[in-house]
Amino acid sequence: MSQVARSKENLGKCMCMKCPTYTFMCKMRNMPGNMMAMMGDLEKKEHVEAMYCAFEQSRCMDEEKGCICEECLVHKENGLDKAYYCMATGGR
Ligand code: SF4
Ligand code: SF4
Repeated sequence: MSQVARSKENLGKCMCMKCPTYTFMCKMRNMPGNMMAMMGDLEKKEHVEAMYCAFEQSRCMDEEKGCICEECLVHKENGLDKAYYCMATGGR
């Protein structure tokens, strides 16, 4: 698996926010942090609650309700072959 670039371009392509697994509570809780991530230097971030294929797993979600990673351009462009990157670092 190639290393997914922690770029704003990739974050913009990430579908996680539209995914049924990404709960409303997690969206509300993580909105400020994700806004900061968009404005700051993403490569220096340890953790972001999105683009889990480039970062570690979520600290917010814990229930699989479907994964739409396969519809994501980042998934295609990086030759990824797993899903649920939010549930396990490196995907399942
Ligand atoms: S492959 Fe999944 S985790 Fe990675 S950017 Fe796309 S939707 Fe987000
Ligand atoms: S990694 Fe997959 S399951 Fe998790 S939020 Fe993103 S699209 Fe949904």
